[in-house]
Amino acid sequence: MGSRSFGVTGGEPLLREDLTEILSYADEQGLVTTLATNGFLLDMLKAKELKQAGLRSIQISLDGEEAIHNHIRNNSQSYARALESVKYCQEVQIPLITISSVVSRLNFAILPFLKQILLDNKIKHWKLIPLMPIGRAAKDMAKEDKSLLKGLFDFIIANKRQINIILGENLPYLGKYDRLVRDKPTYCPVGIGTLCLGVDGNVRGCPEMPDTSEFVEGNILDSDIEEIWQNSFGKYRNALLKSEDPNCRKCRFWAKCRGGCWVMRLGQLHCIKELLK
Ligand code: SF4
Repeated sequence: MGSRSFGVTGGEPLLREDLTEILSYADEQGLVTTLATNGFLLDMLKAKELKQAGLRSIQISLDGEEAIHNHIRNNSQSYARALESVKYCQEVQIPLITISSVVSRLNFAILPFLKQILLDNKIKHWKLIPLMPIGRAAKDMAKEDKSLLKGLFDFIIANKRQINIILGENLPYLGKYDRLVRDKPTYCPVGIGTLCLGVDGNVRGCPEMPDTSEFVEGNILDSDIEEIWQNSFGKYRNALLKSEDPNCRKCRFWAKCRGGCWVMRLGQLHCIKELLK
């Protein structure tokens, strides 16, 4: 199918005992492999196995300093285990190590403090992901946190020289902030450049999309994955030409935005042009 990369995420992928076997196989096929994990189960032995499996990039979640991270994760060991896992990955020299943090009102104020923790731990890459309206944030939380976005962009601008900050792809268009916050424009790649294969064989656009009929494009237990890729995903590809959203259809930023992120759209958080005025 011409794929170049293979990323594993969860849930928690390290729960899967044959994970390194899968990554090794993908690596042998010439795919660049990446892994997103909470780091909890990543000890030195696992780090060595991942390195041996050819893993090129790992993303470990850290959503705050100890108290906040452990509160969000509801586990008193999560913070320590995440930072330990970073050290193991550094020791075995996984080529790219990134910390990812979901930004919400629970951790927004301590971002400068968290940045210092990352610098102290020799972490060079930091992905900041605005809260998405899924899981525990599906109700009001993500909506309320939309007001934090401008502050988040200003934080990135003020700190990006000290640490490489990458803003999540769930906000493709940032208006005047675009060039200040990112090196290059971002579009939602769902159905155009990426697909997500779920544990039950369901194929959908990205891991954040709910596993519901609205988003499931097929199942590899019923059809060949290439057939699903070629024949499904119509709504994402048609949207490239013309959006079904009347606001987007008449929007002068359409070419740069293409209607934003489909998951953010679930909470009406996909469009921030009013916020940017
Ligand atoms: S109206 Fe649509 S195309 Fe315009 S900025 Fe908002 S989401 Fe993007």
